[in-house]
Amino acid sequence: MTVRVVLPLPLDQAFTYCVPEALEREVQVGCRVLVPFGPRRLTGLVVGAGDEATADAQGRRLKAILDVLDDEPSFTDEMLRLTRWMADYYVCGWGEVARAALPSGTDIESRQRILRTEAPAGPWADHPLGGPVLRYLDAHGDATLQALRQQHPGVPLSLLRRLERDGLVRIETEQTAPRVQVKTEKHLRFAPAFRHPGAVLDLKQQLRGHRQIAVVETLAGFRAEGQPTPRQADVLTRANAAASTVRSLVDKGILEVVEREVIRTPLGDLADVPPPPARTLHPAQQAALERITAAIERGTFEAFLLHGVTGSGKTEVYIAALKAVLARGQTGIVLVPEIALTPQTVRRFRAHFGDRIAVLHSRMSLGERYDAWRHLRSGRFQVVIGPRSAVLAPLSNLGLIVVDEEHEPSYKQFDPAPRYHARDVAVMRAHMNDAVCILGSATPSLESFANARAGKYTLLAMPERVPVPGRPAAPLPTVEVVDLTLERKKHRLHGAFSQTLLDAIGQRLERREQVILLQNRRGYAPVLECHACGFAPMCPDCSVTLTYHKPMRHLRCHYCGRTAPLPSTCPRCGAAEMKRLGTGTQRVEEELATHLPHARILRMDLDTTRRKDAHHAILSRFGRGEADILLGTQMVAKGLDFGRVTLVGVIDADAGMLLPDFRAEERTFQLLTQVAGRAGRAELPGEVLLQTRNPDHTALRFSRRHDYEGFVEAILPERRQFGYPPFGRLVGLEFRGPQEQAVVELAEAWTAQLATLCRPLPGVQVLGPEPAFIGRIKRQYRYHTLIKAPRHVPAADLARALRRTRSALGAPPRGCHVGIDVDPVGLF
Ligand code: ADP
Ligand code: ZN
Repeated sequence: MTVRVVLPLPLDQAFTYCVPEALEREVQVGCRVLVPFGPRRLTGLVVGAGDEATADAQGRRLKAILDVLDDEPSFTDEMLRLTRWMADYYVCGWGEVARAALPSGTDIESRQRILRTEAPAGPWADHPLGGPVLRYLDAHGDATLQALRQQHPGVPLSLLRRLERDGLVRIETEQTAPRVQVKTEKHLRFAPAFRHPGAVLDLKQQLRGHRQIAVVETLAGFRAEGQPTPRQADVLTRANAAASTVRSLVDKGILEVVEREVIRTPLGDLADVPPPPARTLHPAQQAALERITAAIERGTFEAFLLHGVTGSGKTEVYIAALKAVLARGQTGIVLVPEIALTPQTVRRFRAHFGDRIAVLHSRMSLGERYDAWRHLRSGRFQVVIGPRSAVLAPLSNLGLIVVDEEHEPSYKQFDPAPRYHARDVAVMRAHMNDAVCILGSATPSLESFANARAGKYTLLAMPERVPVPGRPAAPLPTVEVVDLTLERKKHRLHGAFSQTLLDAIGQRLERREQVILLQNRRGYAPVLECHACGFAPMCPDCSVTLTYHKPMRHLRCHYCGRTAPLPSTCPRCGAAEMKRLGTGTQRVEEELATHLPHARILRMDLDTTRRKDAHHAILSRFGRGEADILLGTQMVAKGLDFGRVTLVGVIDADAGMLLPDFRAEERTFQLLTQVAGRAGRAELPGEVLLQTRNPDHTALRFSRRHDYEGFVEAILPERRQFGYPPFGRLVGLEFRGPQEQAVVELAEAWTAQLATLCRPLPGVQVLGPEPAFIGRIKRQYRYHTLIKAPRHVPAADLARALRRTRSALGAPPRGCHVGIDVDPVGLF
């Protein structure tokens, strides 16, 4: 018997392995298996039965699988088909997609272990690298390659192999156990003989120790509350007893310990989630829901674009649609951008779905993820909410996939492959399952909007905010543009703040209302520049300037995280003054504190939210009214709903518009609309102030009027003219490596080959290679090539050209890397 196995490598093919007789009963399609691959052992996925040949095309005997790692298949047929489609479409390895769909930490990776033999070191003792390595091994006996490399970075395997040849070490490939395992917890109950009603009284007379009696009484108390088998930990706390007391009761045959599996969740108990408020959907919600439930009842694929302004009640529609799906015995997935997956959001879903919903989150521990994954596969959870990767959750019988804020660029994965777009995968997965997909947004991506116009998606509009009972719908906030150039002329500009914005904030403080301020740049000053010679400190590994961070008094690279001390004089000319150019959130905070010394300010950016629950803590404090102003990067723009916020200020609406990306305007429009939507969500009317130097900019003109369609009409002609999405398809190629010359050669070879293979495809252009906008990141030089194709050229034809290029040119030289990015979301 043979099987076809895919491996987590950027390879197009599956490999055939034979199955030893002992494993024949174990192995099934969709199971993970351990296989030898060159010198390594890898976790692969069985994707099908092989033919009966026992040798490969070159006549070599087939290798045998070493182990079967799953007792039931990790992948259903459906997931096999979906991941296969993703590999084809995104031009990556099927095994790479499969790895992305499994919770991390469950694969068994091979590790090299180095063992020291008895042989004396001899001349090797003086070798600059070999000597220290041998001494380390002498002291430790053996070490994993990983541990050895931590001590002696850069020890090449080839050196170790030479040591092995000389008989000084042995290299073994060891298999490590998966890092995550099922977690269990002790529960207690009475042994059968002591479960009758009178038993507790008998025991109280019979037992000596008052602690033992306390445990028995406590357990009886739990039983009376309907919990006959509570957690041992809870019993001990309530009884104020120690585990030794329980042990003696178990030894006496009075109590039993039961090991129960714990489902690790990142949000602790559900007990504090209040039941959802009872509400009737307003007419626009009702109309949207009826269209959606009709499709769910039909059980055929349909994709909806739910275009609803911020606060129009989209989330309530998702919840109602999910309920309809669960009522039919089907399951559902809700995707939200990572940044919007706040406890506020989760609690809202929990209130409706209780313990039927699993949450996935990038900050979960491996164990938490593993549990969620297994219980989704087993059907214990019927709904999952999570960011991008939740689209690959192992749910069967899928009825609905919701993609909230479908325009968000974070739905696109960049590194590592597969570089998939979760929204597009969601539509495909729904299609494969005859399920329904809802894409929701206040500012749909132009791609989705074009699909709706073309009739591929059904457009549902909710143009107004949820009406407050007894009154018309809360109006959208008024948006004012503050022209910074004019303000400066009138001497009304103080640092980053116009007098207009300061006055507006002051008013809110007086009225005890709250303010959100957006400055989409963290740190204090993005550039430090010498007054005299113009020198600006750059990151030595990345071609960007270092950002000054005031609280730490250091400079930091925002691409690689490298830090450097703050120079007191110019490192080049010695001048005494370095100017701090530009404005980050720290500087805004400082200026705000001087203008409004009594304001209570919370800052939310990457630097203040590194700790695990910091993000949540800041939002809760703001929600409780412990601060007047929430200041931050785009983190403050997403999904927040605070009734007392009546002013939103954008410190620099122009940031981001100068990026060399054809989507820069679209992104700016989306971000401004998004953050503006935070103002005046409840009874109090909202106001938005946008500070800018380009008041006539398209994105600003239209976000002022909340005019999404007007904005779309204004920018579509340019997209059409240049063949950008939604009118054309793009594939980006990134070449990178530590030596510029090698990267250039690689990029040129690929580009030339692609140009040749694309020549028969009408209208396809291969542009490049060009140095990337940021030419160097983390010591890697970067070059880009772009393939631009008219919409009518099938994606499969482009994928074929890319695959043929890859197989013609083979693996890139050592240290170099080629990234293929189908439908890229950023182009720099
Ligand atoms: P969106 O997802 O479009 O931003 P939400 O679903 O969050 O909008 O709704 C905005 C606010 O209105 C929320 O506080 C929500 O609880 C409330 N809401 C939504 N629908 C209704 C309704 N039918 N009746 C009363 N309140 C509603
Ligand atoms: Zn750097």
